[in-house]
Amino acid sequence: MAKERVHTDVTIIGAGPVGLFAVFAMGMLGMRCHLVDALEEAGGQCAALYPDKPIYDIPGYPEIAAGALIERLRDQIAPFRPACHFGQQIVAVAPAGERRWRATTSSGLAIESAAIVIAAGCGAFGANRPPLEGLAAFEGTGSVRYAVPQARDLAGKRVVIAGGGDSAVDWALALAGTAARVTVVHRRDKFRAAPENVRRLRALAASGAVDLAIPYQLAALEGERGALEAVHVASLDGAARRIAADILLPFFGLATTLGPIAEWGLNLERNRIQVDPATAATNRPGLHAIGDIAAYPGKLKLILAGFSEAAMAARAIHPRVFPDRELHFEYSTLTGVPALNRS
Ligand code: FAD
Repeated sequence: MAKERVHTDVTIIGAGPVGLFAVFAMGMLGMRCHLVDALEEAGGQCAALYPDKPIYDIPGYPEIAAGALIERLRDQIAPFRPACHFGQQIVAVAPAGERRWRATTSSGLAIESAAIVIAAGCGAFGANRPPLEGLAAFEGTGSVRYAVPQARDLAGKRVVIAGGGDSAVDWALALAGTAARVTVVHRRDKFRAAPENVRRLRALAASGAVDLAIPYQLAALEGERGALEAVHVASLDGAARRIAADILLPFFGLATTLGPIAEWGLNLERNRIQVDPATAATNRPGLHAIGDIAAYPGKLKLILAGFSEAAMAARAIHPRVFPDRELHFEYSTLTGVPALNRS
């Protein structure tokens, strides 16, 4: 049951880079937005998973840290003053009369709008958690973390990194020299990461700056009241090691469950929403999907592709919000950034 009801033109689910840019794309066409995210802050994967990492394929930025990109996007949408609802998941989406939709948040807020843009990435994402006894207590104290806001947060700590993908290798490189000790635990002697970074990691291991615990898997955590003292690892042939540690960073990828989105009557394709690439329209009129969650032939899961999808979705949504207003194509150099003066 909704505790509070608000009305707007467009509801955007997900405040990742693509959801943020959607506020801009809608705003440029005169549409007001409410923006909702399950996380406590904007930025999606960029803010939660790799804020310090440089991105090299954002047009106009030869290099920009993921967190800085989110800052720039926030600056860019500020003139449109979107209503932001963070720390709330959209749990239900249902029709609300003719050509209107209602999105209800986990806090009981009902947002009614002409259209909904689903920019939910891989759904209500969460990291894959290792199956270790007593894990929750160590997560609660921050001894076990699935993301690192800044490398300097772990200065002087003994860090164990588990996994063999890009995140594991990148963070081992970033923390070597900052952390007191870095140990990478991986179950086999082959990494699924950028070859140059793997080469750098092996060079650091050869010089003794990083310890490689291979082929081992996480076996148990040691510590009192959530304060980590050591990570126990074991190999398939029965060898075991105790690694003294303050922090464990398990990087086993993201769990990609769609969560409530799977219940909204949308055509799905392997946990993503099928859309028309020209309009980002789903099979339900007024519901559009953009960014990582959108599926169509040739889809690239890249931020720049999501930006383009946001612009196309905005044009497709405009007639729902303003049925009597003709939409002409105009460059931003001509229009500037229009103020949203409607109440
Ligand atoms: P996301 O960033 O995933 O944001 C989705 C948001 O939706 C999340 O904040 C989530 O909490 C929210 N959400 C989901 N469901 C709900 C719900 N029901 N209610 C409320 N909120 C909800 N891309 C590049 O282009 N270049 C790169 O160099 C690059 N490097 C990367 C490096 C790493 C380590 C990773 C993990 C990804 C990288 N990517 C890169 C991919 C890029 O981050 C994604 O393509 C991008 O984040 C997708 O943006 P999005 O807004 O679609 O989704």
